[in-house]
Amino acid sequence: MTRRQCTGEYKVKPIKKKVRELLGYPYPVRIPKGVFVEQWVGISTDEFHRAKDADVKYMRNRHPLLDMSWSRADCVRYLTSLGLADTPKSSCLGCPFHGNAQWRHIRDTSPSEWANVVEFDAAIRQGNARANASGSRLLGEAFLHRSRVPLSEAPIDHVTAAERAALQPELGDADVLENGVEDGCSPWACRGDADALTQDDFGLAT
Ligand code: SF4
Repeated sequence: MTRRQCTGEYKVKPIKKKVRELLGYPYPVRIPKGVFVEQWVGISTDEFHRAKDADVKYMRNRHPLLDMSWSRADCVRYLTSLGLADTPKSSCLGCPFHGNAQWRHIRDTSPSEWANVVEFDAAIRQGNARANASGSRLLGEAFLHRSRVPLSEAPIDHVTAAERAALQPELGDADVLENGVEDGCSPWACRGDADALTQDDFGLAT
């Protein structure tokens, strides 16, 4: 299994940089004791185990949905009442944890974003030494889709209702393949930490 760096590199680091800037203590200036920002993170009751403290003293995480005892269903009900029923899970456009439904949604509703992720997928094939945790070259090839097929050719229409029914005993894996990991992604709760990804529907190690 490869080490995930996306949340740390592209969310947590930039947020810390911005917070320091907003506080008036850009790196490497020392932040005085007792100076901090309060950051609200949207973790619902069904994923309370993902609620974490920030790892620095100048940021304190609050979890308002937990304070209100709101589940994901409560959030959906509330968004529906505002006419926002289609609000998607939070995630990056080219997240490798997307399921087929999310890939199809991008392909079928946003041609420019689809072209963007297809191009991105092709560009990461050989990896980038600087992006690896150890700084060493990628062994093998990188793909966004779990089939290890270029996204433009990947079987994103693969799981039909009939196939899902036939796969009932392995519905857990099939569901992840279709819908992606259940969680959204936020800086202190990376969706890539989901256990469901340790094995995939193609029988390949992740
Ligand atoms: S949404 Fe996906 S790609 Fe983006 S930070 Fe989270 S795990 Fe990484």
